[in-house]
Amino acid sequence: MKNECNIIKDILPLYAEKMVSEDTVDFIEEHLKNCPACSSDYQSMQKATNFSAERKEINEEAIVKVIKKLRKKLIKRICVATISICLAVLAVVVSLQVFPVYRVYQRKWDDSFTTEQRWMLAYIGTPGDRKIAIDILNMASLTAFSDTTHTYEENLKLYGELGQYAWDKHYFEEGYEQQAFYETHSLELLSAHIDKEHGYMFVKYSQQAIGENGETVSGAWDIVSLWEIEKTADGNWNVIKITEHC
Ligand SMILES: [Zn+2]
Repeated sequence: MKNECNIIKDILPLYAEKMVSEDTVDFIEEHLKNCPACSSDYQSMQKATNFSAERKEINEEAIVKVIKKLRKKLIKRICVATISICLAVLAVVVSLQVFPVYRVYQRKWDDSFTTEQRWMLAYIGTPGDRKIAIDILNMASLTAFSDTTHTYEENLKLYGELGQYAWDKHYFEEGYEQQAFYETHSLELLSAHIDKEHGYMFVKYSQQAIGENGETVSGAWDIVSLWEIEKTADGNWNVIKITEHC
């Protein structure tokens, strides 16, 4: 029996894996029935196999859990990163509305403007300053920019510095080579920096004299100019100096 037991022990692993012929199966099962020692060996071998299968399952479950956790973490990180980038872009866009620094670099400056004046374009100004400046723009729009009925000299007398933006009436007089019939203009406030009695405002304007068939007789487009303003004794604001590119 002892000799047979040794043979059985050698082939039991193959038997457990069902890798033996039918004859061998019969031979082993016959032996196991009658040999408690080998039978017990076989049972413990089976237990060990089951245990390792169970462990494999547990390991797989643990790995799935870890992967799920990692995936959750990754998604969270991607969300946080995306939101952060969006907020950063929004912050840049909003601050460029108030601090349009790019305007300083957008222009080809000449000596007409000091460095300090150029940098006035980089901040649009406080709401209070802008309100004063917009009132001045509206006044300029209704007066000098709309006037087509006086001579150049009369305009300077009427509107002071702003008189240069009023049309000389000869453009609109019958018989002028390219007679204009009406004018159009637009004024945009770029920035306003105003103290109690003195200030600066950057203005972008376009103006055209339009002929009989809608053609432009004369005009200027998107001119950036700096208006220096001063408060008069009666509390109104006067444009005292205008600087444009030479
Ligand atoms: Zn045996």
